[in-house]
Amino acid sequence: MEKVLLITGASRGIGAATAKMAAHEGWTVAVNYAANSLAADEVVRSIRAAGGHAIAVRADVADEAQVMAMFQHIDAKLGPLKGLVNNAGVVDVSQPVSEQTVQRWRRMFEVNVIGSMLCAREAVRRMSTQYGGAGGSIVNVSSAAARLGSPNEYVDYAASKAAIDTFTIGLAKETAGGGIRVNAVRPGLIDTEIHASGGKPNRVEDLKHQIPMKRGGTAEEVAQTIVWLLSDAASYTTMSLIDVSGAR
Ligand code: NAP
Repeated sequence: MEKVLLITGASRGIGAATAKMAAHEGWTVAVNYAANSLAADEVVRSIRAAGGHAIAVRADVADEAQVMAMFQHIDAKLGPLKGLVNNAGVVDVSQPVSEQTVQRWRRMFEVNVIGSMLCAREAVRRMSTQYGGAGGSIVNVSSAAARLGSPNEYVDYAASKAAIDTFTIGLAKETAGGGIRVNAVRPGLIDTEIHASGGKPNRVEDLKHQIPMKRGGTAEEVAQTIVWLLSDAASYTTMSLIDVSGAR
């Protein structure tokens, strides 16, 4: 049977790298994206060109109706889900908390926290043996920000990722009896477009002197850990929060 995997926010960056690597490892991948269909199609094209299986699925993970429709589409097109990577996430421009708006906080928590919880809920309903599923694996993409706090940049983002860490711990304990493993990776400074979306396209270059390894990481270096956590090689690993941060 095909191993079906949903990766949210897989049109670029860490999600796209994970989609390509997982497809290479034999996963059939649903490549979720929010807006950039051309980029998602390009990820699918590249997976198919390498002999793998993938489809693109549009959904804003913060929107319950869109998430429900996405899971139903995957059920119908690909079959039973075996893995979920909650990767979609957003930052915002650097500001101290004293300048931030409620609107900003709502969007940050709706995408980063509620979006991940919604997708996890739908995945558990399909994968847990307690619901008649065959078990599976969930990897949540947190951030080193969860332990650093991101002062004067985005404390709200850091708090949303800390919520993901705790969600990972609780869900891992809750679903272990249903054959599901739940883990998180906490990337450090990784060279992707997320920094430009926060108004700092050169953030990795500018801050790399603070990293003990003296360089930013690549999306592929994070993808390696995610794909391992998804695999049977990680069969006794659950409830883990794994830093991929060059000691940042
Ligand atoms: P990125 O390059 O900005 O890519 C973000 C992806 O998420 C895109 O595919 C985007 O889709 C999608 N997305 C955004 N909002 C969405 C929504 N509401 N619903 C569905 N998809 C949505 O980001 P990245 O750097 O690869 O980051 C991936 C994850 O790693 C995030 O959770 C981020 O917080 C975490 N992380 C990154 C770093 C880093 O330094 N890069 C460090 C720590 C943690 P569209 O292209 O369609 O907009």
